[in-house]
Order: sequence, then C-alpha cells, then structure tokens
Amino acid sequence: MLIQQCGLCGCPSTARLCAQCASLLPALGPACARCAIPTPIAVEECGACQRQSPPFDAALAALRYQPPVDALLQGFKFKGRLALGVVAAELLAKICAPRLVDALIPIPLHRTRLRERGFNQSLLLARQVAQGRPILQFLQRRRATAAQSGLDSDERRRNVRGAFQVQGDLPPRVALIDDVMTTGATLAEAAKVCKKAGADWVEVWVVARRP
Ligand SMILES: [Zn+2]
Ligand SMILES: [Zn+2]
Repeated sequence: MLIQQCGLCGCPSTARLCAQCASLLPALGPACARCAIPTPIAVEECGACQRQSPPFDAALAALRYQPPVDALLQGFKFKGRLALGVVAAELLAKICAPRLVDALIPIPLHRTRLRERGFNQSLLLARQVAQGRPILQFLQRRRATAAQSGLDSDERRRNVRGAFQVQGDLPPRVALIDDVMTTGATLAEAAKVCKKAGADWVEVWVVARRP
C-alpha cells in the first residue's frame, strides 16, 4: 500500500487521515432534521425552528464543528490542502447518498475571494458528492460580503441580505452545499433566493455544523 502522510497530524499513514485522527472526527449525532443543530434526541424541528421556520426544509451535516474538524476544514479552505477536502467530501457523500434531489447548488464565493483562494470549496465538495446528480452554478455573489466570523447572528443576517443574484430557473428539489453552517444566515439567504426561482424543496448539505 502507498504510504503517505496523515493530512492532520503528519504521521505516516496509508490513508488520507491516520486511524487515530479519523477516530477523533466527531459525528454530528442526534440533531434537528430542519437545521441540523445537535439536540439531546433527534427531532423533526428544534425549538428555534418551531418559533421561526428557516427558509430551507431540511439540513444534513456529517460532523460537529469542533476540534479537529476546524483544522480539517481550515487546512482545506485556507491552505489549499485538497486531500483534506476529499476526506470531508467522502464523509458528506455518505450521509447525502440516499437524498432525492434534482440538483446540487454550491454556495458561491465572490470573485475577489475566489481569486485569492484559487478555488471554491463548496464547488469542490459538490463535485465529489454529486454522484451523477447535476451541479448548477445558479447563485452568484452580487457583492463581496465581510467574513461572517466575528459577527453575531443579526449582523450575519444583515451582512448577507441581497448577497446573491441568480441565473436561470430551478428544478423542484435542490440541495445547497457548503463546508460549515454556523447560524445558517448565508444558507437561509440562498434558500430564499432558490425558492423565489421556483424550487419548492431546498435542503442544506454541509460538512460540519457548529453547535
Ligand atoms: Zn493523523
Ligand atoms: Zn432546528
């Protein structure tokens, strides 16, 4: 077997992650089916979703966003370590395989950020989890938004309001793809846009959910 390095700890490994690091990745566990927030037992809708329905209809996350998931996704996104992206995509593909959607829609980066980074992590993830389903690059960033990190939930909502423009029409059932869901403000804004463009079921697929 080909010996390579574990993408997280750097030890010699026959896989992209060594067995030890792979075992440390926390599965999401019981969660709200609507927004993927971890809950003591699995529920259709958590209290927050009951109080205010999100614009998306379901959310799936492979992992809980806690160490070493932060290192995995930051290595992929900010250091361009694409092997870590493959690890993340494989975990996401596993939980999304049975979902019935007509198309996948990656959350776009604004072109200035795309230029800096060289790739859109959501598009790379979408390509690896598509399994024959079409990928629509339907959303475009209308403007460069400030990074969501460091903003509270109201600020996050304001920051992404009107951030997307669209081209074309959508099939009835679509999945939005992103790497991390925190408050869900970006995904909620994107879901609203998808519904306006004709989708009647929008679900969210993310690698990791921040509790
Ligand atoms: Zn390792
Ligand atoms: Zn919920």
